[in-house]
Amino acid sequence: MVPKGKIDEIIEGYDLKDLTIATLCSHSSLQIFHGARKMGFKTLGLTISHSTKYYDAFPLAKPDKIIKYADFDEMEERVGELLDENVILIPHGSFVEYMGSRRFGDYPVPSYGNRAVLDWESDRDRQRQWITSAGVPMPRLITDAREISEPVMVKYNGAKGGNGYFIARDYPDFKMAIDPSQPYTMQEYCLGTRYYMHFFYDPHKKDGYLCEQGGSLEMLSIDRRDESNIDEMYKLGSIEESKRHGLYPSFVVTGNAPVVIRESLLPKAFDMAEKVVNKSYELFGGMWGPFCLETVVNDKLQFKVFEISTRIVAGTNPFISGSPYADLIYPGLSTGGRLAMGIRDAAAGGYLKDVVS
Ligand code: ATP
Repeated sequence: MVPKGKIDEIIEGYDLKDLTIATLCSHSSLQIFHGARKMGFKTLGLTISHSTKYYDAFPLAKPDKIIKYADFDEMEERVGELLDENVILIPHGSFVEYMGSRRFGDYPVPSYGNRAVLDWESDRDRQRQWITSAGVPMPRLITDAREISEPVMVKYNGAKGGNGYFIARDYPDFKMAIDPSQPYTMQEYCLGTRYYMHFFYDPHKKDGYLCEQGGSLEMLSIDRRDESNIDEMYKLGSIEESKRHGLYPSFVVTGNAPVVIRESLLPKAFDMAEKVVNKSYELFGGMWGPFCLETVVNDKLQFKVFEISTRIVAGTNPFISGSPYADLIYPGLSTGGRLAMGIRDAAAGGYLKDVVS
């Protein structure tokens, strides 16, 4: 992990009136650049092999400059160019995933948020320890496949975006589908409605919904993911019947749809998010900025959190011009815009070092 002292030194050398917001071209980059421009920042897109022509179609979200690298090695070698531009990086899911969380953690360019969170998010056991010790319910773990007595979700380690996950109803079902050469975990399949809730914790904002450390917790939006092919599988009739024809359900994210939750669920949603934030300060010095609780709500209106994403998620993309929740705090602002606002306020308030690592 790049030492915090090194990042602080870099910030001391920056011209705070001429900061550039940069991110990897993909995922939520349109929203990040759009939000950064709205707050008056210069923008820089970093790309390895991803096509960038699509930015021409969206002029209000096109970065001022794009740097194309052959690979992440080159991105590391040419780090000086980013420091010359006073770059603050915005990490998003694909940035950290493609670069690798360890490598991203070592990349010596100031990055919004606390890098220490990477160790707690990328390791499933630690993530579970964090969330459950905060008092937030997660799906029950099943350790022995012979004990499967209700539907379980089998997740291969490192399989991202739900790729390769499968549901097993009993042991024979599990045996039929498992690839024993790959490490996996099993958890209770939570039947209910999925909500991916996008929060933002600002430790320096002293009004609104306050947490233990005195900062403010905001809910900016909620989405539901479109997952192929599970979301459309019902059209073929029974899943069991489909399996006999070689068609297995998969959970690959292809898009995101905006949703709201019934208002009576909001107190529970805030309570869970607050507990996770509070615990993060106890465990690793805090999680601030955007994060997402990925949840299922059952018909008794109980939440289970099956995952936390500790940075901007692509599910915030439908809300580039605000959301039913963001509009009650900052009308018309996206999570990308909120990030840029956090950086702008920190630079103006003299505490930029506190929000980057
Ligand atoms: P990402 O990192 O993109 O969030 P991932 O590979 O970590 O994806 P998960 O988010 O854990 O995968 O799960 C992928 C999908 O599988 C979820 O969006 C949800 O539809 C489903 N899912 C995961 N866990 C459960 C569960 N315990 N019960 C029911 N459905 C689940």
